[in-house]
Amino acid sequence: MADRLAQLDHAHLWHPFTPMRQWRETAPLIIEYGDGPYLFDTDGNRYIDGVSSLWCNVHGHRVAEIDAAIRGQLDKIAHSTLLGQASPPSIELAARLCKIAPQGLNKVFYSDAGATAVEVAFKMAVGYWHHRGRPDKNRFIGLEGAYHGDTTGSMSVGYSDLFHRPFAAMVFPTFFAPVGEPGALAALESLLIEHADHVAAVVVEPIMQGAAGMIPQPPGYLRAIADLAGKHDTLLIADEVATGFGRTGKMFACEHENVAPDIMCLAKGITGGYLPLAATLTTDVIESAFCGEIAERRTLYHGHTYTGNALACAAALASLDLFEKNNLLDHINRSAAIIAERLKLLPGAGVRQRGIMVGIELPEATTESAAALCLAMRPKGLIVRNLGNTLILMPIPAMPHEVLTEMLDIVTDTLTSAN
Ligand code: PMP
Repeated sequence: MADRLAQLDHAHLWHPFTPMRQWRETAPLIIEYGDGPYLFDTDGNRYIDGVSSLWCNVHGHRVAEIDAAIRGQLDKIAHSTLLGQASPPSIELAARLCKIAPQGLNKVFYSDAGATAVEVAFKMAVGYWHHRGRPDKNRFIGLEGAYHGDTTGSMSVGYSDLFHRPFAAMVFPTFFAPVGEPGALAALESLLIEHADHVAAVVVEPIMQGAAGMIPQPPGYLRAIADLAGKHDTLLIADEVATGFGRTGKMFACEHENVAPDIMCLAKGITGGYLPLAATLTTDVIESAFCGEIAERRTLYHGHTYTGNALACAAALASLDLFEKNNLLDHINRSAAIIAERLKLLPGAGVRQRGIMVGIELPEATTESAAALCLAMRPKGLIVRNLGNTLILMPIPAMPHEVLTEMLDIVTDTLTSAN
């Protein structure tokens, strides 16, 4: 079976973020099933899912409660549109998200990926200023090294030369502020002062810039950005696509600095990593700018076919139940301590960690040699990925501590023997 699938894959599948010529030179890893923190390939080999299936799995694979919630919803209906009609799971989930989100985020707009959640946020911000008679406030300030997805708007505000160079002509102009270095906040404030009439929002991945290679922000930085945005009459958009749902040790990273953004983007972990769903949350004030007489044309004419999919919302509700039932945030914080303790012994590597989001920078490594190290961990039973010369560890939040320890052993043994 594996050979047949490999042939068909090589003949027909174009994999995301994957150099395809090289992909076709080796037999593909084909994951057939999962169980808790483990993935199994078509030959029955078992791997620890060290990337949470690209940062989205929360409670493990084939979790009884989420499986049952999806099956229960399937007995009613899989999908119906939210354009001009509603559905019970999408309503229940919206209310539940508003209850746990930072204060003031009281309205939920669904879409289906992190990038679309970000696009919606941009349109909310620009539309808000437009409807308030400030149509020139239509630009964004992003942070250097930020990543917000691969659609055109999200590329524009999270431009990466490595990923996006062929598309540089497609992106819209954005202002970028530095992060972390001395004078970074002063530089942001200068941009805000100079372009106040044109900036709709400052966009930030709070606390930890994930796809930049796990770049943590200094303590107080997020709070300072929020204060500057408010001071200069600009909205704050928090992209919690990667950081949300417990990864930094709090439900949402903004909570670390008591920040309530004007708009917050959620995706990835929202369904426990089961189904595609995203949500863009905002305040009553921003949403109300889109309300008026029909002839005023304030309506947000934006929507995706599978917006608020019932199966995905049912999975998300079950996932939120599990956070409570399993005291998952406590478990995550204990996991974070185990990781910090284990990795502090690693010689010569720069470990960057917030909660259970970890980057291990290997100063001597290239992108290729870091990728080779990741591949070397496969036969030892671990799947991890690199970003440039940084090894990324994203354990499943609910990963049992003995499995986490096994994962850390494989990583440290591989890195130590490579030195
Ligand atoms: N924002 C951030 C912070 C992300 O890390 C990602 C994906 N890694 C995205 C947006 C895009 O999400 P998606 O891949 O679901 O479009």
